[in-house]
Amino acid sequence: AADLPPVTEADPTAKALGYVEDATKSTNAKYKAGDDCTNCQFYTGGATGRGPCQLFPGKSVNAKGWCVSHTPKKA
Ligand code: SF4
Repeated sequence: AADLPPVTEADPTAKALGYVEDATKSTNAKYKAGDDCTNCQFYTGGATGRGPCQLFPGKSVNAKGWCVSHTPKKA
């Protein structure tokens, strides 16, 4: 899973979900400071680099990325 091709912000799904590679650069009203893929329940990668997201099958998202479907991981 480490070598999944990276999703780009131009990807149609990424656009639909307001995905950004750098969460802190999000201008989406739903973005909350501190949220990123690493603390989202759909992310199954590590704390750095890139990893899989259940909403982007076959692609990798940035650990520090974000999209509107961000859902906090259960503790
Ligand atoms: Fe990142 Fe979660 Fe959005 Fe997937 S659903 S891109 S892990 S914020």
